[in-house]
Amino acid sequence: METCIFCKIVAGEIPSKLVAETEHTIAFHDISPRQPVHVLVVPKSHHRDVVELSKHAPFELLDLVQLGNRVAEQLTNGSFRLQFNTGAEAGQTVFHAHGHILSGTPRGSVDAVPMSEDEALG
Ligand code: 5GP
Ligand code: ZN
Repeated sequence: METCIFCKIVAGEIPSKLVAETEHTIAFHDISPRQPVHVLVVPKSHHRDVVELSKHAPFELLDLVQLGNRVAEQLTNGSFRLQFNTGAEAGQTVFHAHGHILSGTPRGSVDAVPMSEDEALG
């Protein structure tokens, strides 16, 4: 679709901060992150929302979820949300299917807090 912003990102016509990609799916950082980790996982083919994607290209939806999981393994401590806003009233603003990988616990965030001497000695 000529006017779709995510189709343009997939085509490389608009820059994005790429995280990972497969034959069917691209993952890139959200332009205005709402959590310390906020990555969008986007099918390369155009479908209005996740329901349309599931009807017309179920394999691509599976690929999207699997890539989202790989991104979460790389960037988080294992706890994350995969969110699909579906319909304008639910907050969907870009009508090209996409999932949000959201996490408040980036990888290493727990380890980054040093143990006190008491904790270390048990
Ligand atoms: P929605 O509200 O449709 O579920 O999510 C759309 C998301 O796309 C929003 O979180 C918004 O910040 C993000 N977004 C919109 N335009 C761009 C863009 O040009 N580049 C990137 N990286 N993210 C975008
Ligand atoms: Zn599109």
